Amino acid sequence: MQHDLTLHNSELLRTRNFIAGTWRAAAGGATLPVTDPANQRLIAEVPDSSADDAQQAADAAYAAFPAWRATPAKARAQVIKRWLALILANQDDLGRLISREQGKPLAEGRAEVLYAASYVEWFAEEAVRICGDVIAPPVVGRQMFAIKEPVGVVAVITPWNFPAAMIARKIAPALAAGCSVLAKPAEDTPLTALALVHLAEQAGLPAGVLNIICASRAQTPAVVDAWLADGRVRKISFTGSTPVGKHLARESAATLKKLSLELGGNAPFIVFDDADLDAAVQGLMAAKFRNGGQTCVCPNRVYVQAGVFEAFADKLAAQVGALRVGPATEADAQIGPMINERAVHKILRHIDDAVAQGAKVLVGGHRVREELGPNYIAPTVLAGATKAAALCAEETFGPVVPLFRFEQEDEVLRDANDTPFGLAAYFYSQDVRRIARVASALECGIVGINEGAVAAEAAPFGGVKESGYGREGSRHGLEDYMHIKYLCQGGL
Ligand code: NAD
Repeated sequence: MQHDLTLHNSELLRTRNFIAGTWRAAAGGATLPVTDPANQRLIAEVPDSSADDAQQAADAAYAAFPAWRATPAKARAQVIKRWLALILANQDDLGRLISREQGKPLAEGRAEVLYAASYVEWFAEEAVRICGDVIAPPVVGRQMFAIKEPVGVVAVITPWNFPAAMIARKIAPALAAGCSVLAKPAEDTPLTALALVHLAEQAGLPAGVLNIICASRAQTPAVVDAWLADGRVRKISFTGSTPVGKHLARESAATLKKLSLELGGNAPFIVFDDADLDAAVQGLMAAKFRNGGQTCVCPNRVYVQAGVFEAFADKLAAQVGALRVGPATEADAQIGPMINERAVHKILRHIDDAVAQGAKVLVGGHRVREELGPNYIAPTVLAGATKAAALCAEETFGPVVPLFRFEQEDEVLRDANDTPFGLAAYFYSQDVRRIARVASALECGIVGINEGAVAAEAAPFGGVKESGYGREGSRHGLEDYMHIKYLCQGGL
């Protein structure tokens, strides 16, 4: 069955930058093609911006900040709630747009809109609960307070894998806190972000409070460097790869910006002998194959205890082999195309390298549906990969599960933590003492215990080690957009 991917609300298809309340072409007139990863066809062209555009956006955000900061929290919350209502009213179109430019199945595109909306709702509600401390003074004649203030102009830079959720969960808390925003979406998926900004404009957000500019991969450093060098930009919130995150950390040192870095992961998923095996298989399917394995929290290394290894591998291979691969236009597709050929080459390199080092392919291991385009990979399970394999050290970011056999708890904890990354980890066990021990020993920011789908707007999302710092979602996600000012009044 074919789905029509044209939009009911054609206003959502925006192809210009939005700066100071107006939709504009890039100052230099350059454009960037946005293509459908399912078939490489052109969807639209957006501006390919330069440092000039970045500068104009920063000027607008800086000019708009004082009035937005002075807007009462309740009034800010009302604008964000109107934005939420418009996002929900356009759920179907936004879901289509996500699937069209990113490739995920339509059900996942629609689900992502609700997921993005859950953060917008959460931060609209949190905006009115910003409060500080009244401090007991250590001497007489004083009053002491700690108050929260918005950090100022914030630049948000997002990846392509969740074109709506990643940007919504940065913009919503920034607006709630009273910050003005500069947004730079991923070059592969700018259209969803532009549509969300259009809806924010419709919701009545004042001109200049939210600005968005698009740029190609080649132009992105010039755009972001302009913001990095600009002392008026007080915070960068970035989700993406660890090398780019480190670059931002280094370059923002000159003006000591506040940073939130949500970077790469290399999540372990551990199945102990005492696990409910069916639940573990279900948990792994949910955690690994959402978005075709292109999520930063998806399990990258699966460790299965020797006593249940064969049973687990058989159950898993049966389910993975039954997954249907195809474009979002096919209603029964469960795994879409990978985002681009660069991603496909990395995944195939990981599979080939593991096999060359002795891994056995239980299912998949190759491209499929090549008549549609080069970006489809068969969901894959490998057994017997070694620690030396590239897929053990690097994030594969695709539908590939390598299974590793282990004997002892201390051995698997050593291996699980033997990575510079520390975003998510998962384990399945029914032993309460083991659950407490393992949850404490895992070096990461997020632990799924007998659960594969862990992200939620009410919970703090973020990593440790080289997976970054800062949290999104929950009250912590709002705190990251504010600083504390201490007021000390004497002479009383
Ligand atoms: P990426 O780092 O290449 O790109 C992310 C963003 O950074 C894009 O907007 C890109 O244009 C921009 N960028 C690229 N080069 C830049 C530079 N020199 N200066 C400034 N900005 C630059 O990552 P990607 O390929 O888009 O996304 C995949 C990566 O993102 C994976 O490693 C994944 O783990 C990570 N990720 C992390 C999370 C999380 O929450 N921790 C979520 C999703 C993705």
